[in-house]
Amino acid sequence: MSLRAVVMPAPGEPLRIESFPRPEPGPGEVLLTTVASEVCGTDVHLWHGRLAGVPYPIIPGHVSVGRVAEANGVTHDAMGAPLAPGDLVTFLDVHGTCHACYHCTVARQPNRCPSRRVYGITFPASDGLMGGWSEGILLRAGVRILRLPEGVSEERFIGGGCGLFTGFATVERSGLAMGDVVLVQGAGPVGLAAAAFAHLRGAGQVLMIGAPDDRLRLAHRFGVDTTFDLFTTDVRHRKDRILALTGDRGVDVVLEASGNPAAVAEGLDVLRDGGSYVVAGHYTDAGTVPLNPHLQMNRKHVELRGQWGTDFHHLVGALRMLARHGDALPFEAVIGGRYPLERAEDALRDVEELRVTKAIIVP
Ligand SMILES: [Zn+2]
Ligand SMILES: [Zn+2]
Repeated sequence: MSLRAVVMPAPGEPLRIESFPRPEPGPGEVLLTTVASEVCGTDVHLWHGRLAGVPYPIIPGHVSVGRVAEANGVTHDAMGAPLAPGDLVTFLDVHGTCHACYHCTVARQPNRCPSRRVYGITFPASDGLMGGWSEGILLRAGVRILRLPEGVSEERFIGGGCGLFTGFATVERSGLAMGDVVLVQGAGPVGLAAAAFAHLRGAGQVLMIGAPDDRLRLAHRFGVDTTFDLFTTDVRHRKDRILALTGDRGVDVVLEASGNPAAVAEGLDVLRDGGSYVVAGHYTDAGTVPLNPHLQMNRKHVELRGQWGTDFHHLVGALRMLARHGDALPFEAVIGGRYPLERAEDALRDVEELRVTKAIIVP
């Protein structure tokens, strides 16, 4: 018996569907039947060859949800919950962090660990079903599996996808305090998740700059109070409005989830003195922007941080928030298209051209 998967042969080349032998899970391994896998901006970047170190051809799809088809000696998930065939689960896409190298042990930055591999990104298709755009996914020994909590639907989870954890991590890294006025730059899945988690963490006010307007309308369901349409307002207008909303002081926290270098200059300009700024949207190199170190950093006494990737505790935390506060995280509403394997290219194009906020592959 074989299972079909989408293969991305190389940057810019048409996707194709290949059949793979159905894997026999070895000791500690679990085979999932894929229920859904997300399509995100990273997949678009992968197709355009904008990420370094990708071992093409690959099976894309890094965040996925599936049902346990077969488990070899795995009886519990990573949090100790019993696991049985048929259970609906997800897993941390990052695998193989060594917990022994300099980055893991001294710098405590496991997201820099050279042993780290990511499902759907850094496994070659020759390794087998290690991506979610596939009828099945083989979870290697040690992959951190989590059962979806009671009451969390697969669509609510996968509609958030990796943006859910990145948004969670971004808010955590910002040090956001209760009552803080927050500006989120970007209205994609990361921006929406960041806004929702900022709201749930007790923000005093949540502002968002983004586009297109259907995303901004949706943003209000995620706890955003005031939106600025990137397409119909200019920087000067937005700065005046934001300063007017904050007694001319600027916002306490800015969370960047836009991927546009110009957003960083704009965000620093509307941040209050001593405020906190987290850059999370520049997962690929989108270029440079002029900054004034005196005015925008030194004199402002700014806290400027980058957020790269996520780890297991972000996944656990985000799932708990989904379980308890799901109505404030209505990610099923951002799913704009469900695509079978054969239409994965359409999914990539629809995401790239902002026709949908989130596309999912349903094999
Ligand atoms: Zn390591
Ligand atoms: Zn993603």
